[in-house]
Amino acid sequence: MGGRVAEREVVVVGGGPAGLATALELRRRGISVLVIDGSRPPIDKACGEGIMPDGVERLRSMGVEPLQDECCEIRGIRYLEGERVAEAAFSTLCGLGVRRTVLHAAMVERAAETGVELVWGEKVLGLCAEGVMTAQGQISASWIVGADGLSSKVRHWAGLERSAKGPRRFGVRQHFEIEPWTDLVEVYWGSECEAYVTPVGRCEVGVALLWSGEKANFGKLLGRHSELVRRLEGARPSSQARGLGPLHRAVTGVARRRVALVGDAAGYRDAITGEGLSLAFHQAAALAAAIENGDLREYDGRVRRLVALPNALIAGLLFVERHPALRHRLIGTLAEAPDLFSRLLAIHAREQPLASLGLGATARLAAGLLRPTSV
Ligand SMILES: Cc1cc2nc3c(=O)[nH]c(=O)nc-3n(C[C@H](O)[C@H](O)[C@H](O)COP(=O)(O)OP(=O)(O)OC[C@H]3O[C@@H](n4cnc5c(N)ncnc54)[C@H](O)[C@@H]3O)c2cc1C
Repeated sequence: MGGRVAEREVVVVGGGPAGLATALELRRRGISVLVIDGSRPPIDKACGEGIMPDGVERLRSMGVEPLQDECCEIRGIRYLEGERVAEAAFSTLCGLGVRRTVLHAAMVERAAETGVELVWGEKVLGLCAEGVMTAQGQISASWIVGADGLSSKVRHWAGLERSAKGPRRFGVRQHFEIEPWTDLVEVYWGSECEAYVTPVGRCEVGVALLWSGEKANFGKLLGRHSELVRRLEGARPSSQARGLGPLHRAVTGVARRRVALVGDAAGYRDAITGEGLSLAFHQAAALAAAIENGDLREYDGRVRRLVALPNALIAGLLFVERHPALRHRLIGTLAEAPDLFSRLLAIHAREQPLASLGLGATARLAAGLLRPTSV
């Protein structure tokens, strides 16, 4: 870069999954794009590493397909709480369990193939009239995309940040060398801490823990899930524990003048539904279309519609998480009515619209949540 002022249509700050997906979607439309990231690939991150079927579909449409022996097909979701077990399969496509480093390497390779300019190990230090500033000089561009993650500086510089209210939630993950015992993502519900187990390889699972309150240690949190501890007995950790939080980040909007936000930078509610990556890929496609049309207001509206249902679902699950009696009833109801769970999962995975739930299923869910139960 060496201090020169280069002309590009778009500069993307952050080369994580959201930034790379945006660059790939822009290249598909023939738009020139430079991605700049302060780290070097393959970039790892605290993540549950399960991609919902709609996210996998979006990845494929971008030409990104991690090698089969480096990831696992995910058939559905299983909720476990003590004796209660509820499970449902995705209705059409499968999801994917994939290490972040594997996903990142595949996305970087595809980006390079399609002509995305990639700059690694260079932090963006601020915005300027022409574009963005780095220690090496300015990079000018017509559009600036902030894909710089949960603690986005671009969000702050563009004046799009808003303070987030509610309980502070954190996440941490670690991997274990063990043959996956299922092709479902397992969610172990417990007191103020959920554990997510995702198969990510032939002999590796990822365990992500989400909890409310103060920062805590992986081992102590895992100890709250005795059944999972038993499952993992003797399995060697294959990564260091890596954490992140607080998770909730709020925005006033996702676009201002010629700056747009995508992925976690565009606001993040919680990892409880495990769909941050899918959402980022949908946003990337919407943003590239808006840039092609030269109108970021269109993108702002599209993102509001995209996140409305996921945010409502997250709010509902967080409420259930804080109220054990309600949680027992929810899991009990889903265990007794797998078809209801499947329908909810299909809506969550964007395979079916919300209206497909229908009055009968809504009434069954409400009756299940309201019935008396022993805690
Ligand atoms: C515990 C946990 C579990 C999760 N589980 C799942 C799951 O199972 N499934 C799922 O879909 N989602 C999950 N998520 C969410 C998912 O991880 C995120 O939504 C996703 O990583 C967002 O990608 P991103 O590209 O927006 O951000 P990131 O992956 O954070 O990428 C941001 C990039 O920006 C770069 N950067 C930052 N600042 C600068 C700067 N100033 N200059 C240059 N570069 C910069 C960073 O180096 C980084 O590479 C989980 C999250 C957590 C915390």
